[in-house]
Amino acid sequence: MSKNQALFERAQRTIPGGVNSPVRAFRSVGGTPRFIERAEGPYFWDADGKRYIDYIGSWGPMILGHVHPEVLEAVQRVLVHGFSFGAPTEAEIEIAEEICKLVPSIEQVRMVSSGTEATMSALRLARGFTNRSRIIKFEGCYHGHADSLLVKAGSGLLTFGNPTSAGVPADIAKHTTVLEYNNVEQLNEAFQAFGSEIASVIVEPVAGNMNLVRATPEFLNALRERCNEYGSVLIFDEVMCGFRVALGGAQQVYGIKPDLTCLGKVIGGGMPAAAFGGRRDIMAHLAPLGGVYQAGTLSGNPIAVAAGLKTLQLIQRPGFHDDLAKQTRKLVDGLAAAARDARVPFSADSIGGMFGLYFMDQVPGSFAQIQQGDTKRFNAFFHAMLDAGVYFAPSAFEAGFVSSAHDDAVIDATIDAARGAFATLAA
Ligand SMILES: *Cc1c(COP(=O)(O)O)cnc(C)c1O
Repeated sequence: MSKNQALFERAQRTIPGGVNSPVRAFRSVGGTPRFIERAEGPYFWDADGKRYIDYIGSWGPMILGHVHPEVLEAVQRVLVHGFSFGAPTEAEIEIAEEICKLVPSIEQVRMVSSGTEATMSALRLARGFTNRSRIIKFEGCYHGHADSLLVKAGSGLLTFGNPTSAGVPADIAKHTTVLEYNNVEQLNEAFQAFGSEIASVIVEPVAGNMNLVRATPEFLNALRERCNEYGSVLIFDEVMCGFRVALGGAQQVYGIKPDLTCLGKVIGGGMPAAAFGGRRDIMAHLAPLGGVYQAGTLSGNPIAVAAGLKTLQLIQRPGFHDDLAKQTRKLVDGLAAAARDARVPFSADSIGGMFGLYFMDQVPGSFAQIQQGDTKRFNAFFHAMLDAGVYFAPSAFEAGFVSSAHDDAVIDATIDAARGAFATLAA
């Protein structure tokens, strides 16, 4: 038996499903999850000693590749001075200043430990600020696993949202309205119907949790305009796309200023750190200044902050994001060409260091279109690539990530492997 399989069997005895986050269990692609032993640059190695080119990068954080020497050194330097204090540190000011500088819509920022905490807290803040309860989210966007956000659309626009998870009370889900991504008409209808009740609209301005789907500029502009008209708080959830699609995130790419922004993933450089921030007048409602409570024992943890701060400094190298975008584009263009040669229906897209692979002819623009992809083909492709030593996301409904450690040789090796994989699909 492979060591991965032995570990998976052992894990399932004490960990539900053998994993600490569901997608890691390989349920949608089948097979045995790989247990990772170590990583370096663009690679990681599993328990059987097999090496993989890593295209999940811990689902986004590892934008510099694994164990970047300067990030390692920054962590090692603070490690010896203590793991956590529960009292403020100078480094927290430094990372706050860095975030406010890089994302100009953020005037003040609060650190937390996960993206889930960031979105949950931002929504509470928006509700406290507006004195309203109702929120709007969009189909296919993921904002972490807070109760209000594990909700799908009801049968019509004016019906209550329904929980997508057991354990979420209907009384909580009913305050969430779920609309179609990129559907301006529906958005306008919703605001017309109950705009003055809407505390907040939360959106992934580049969606990465239903596979990669770009927002149209018209859609994000309409969000900004309706929120202005009705006094609703516009939250960009840039936990995934922040620092990833551009140094200033999706809001820089689209030139739109949200009221609040949620950050995570890259901001911790692989350590548990996330943040939410934005307009000073809204942030002033947070405790200890205002009446919206929010706190965290490990918030602004010194080791997480050291890793995050160094990561944010390193990605400011001139040309960093241009190079990252170029490598990512090279990857998806190469994969698309390989699929075309094998006559496999396939398309791909990328923005900055994020990419999407779709087993359909055209790049999708909504959750409904994403559903039309050929998941059987995706699963076969995933396993063929895994065998060849390339680790893509183990689900057709996730984006992929390239790091600055993915050089030409790594991208070329991936495309070579894909030629073989697509050939087996065509047969
Ligand atoms: C990953 C993610 C989250 C949740 O972050 P966690 O750190 O996993 O809690 C929220 N929003 C978006 C857009 C994400 O990609």
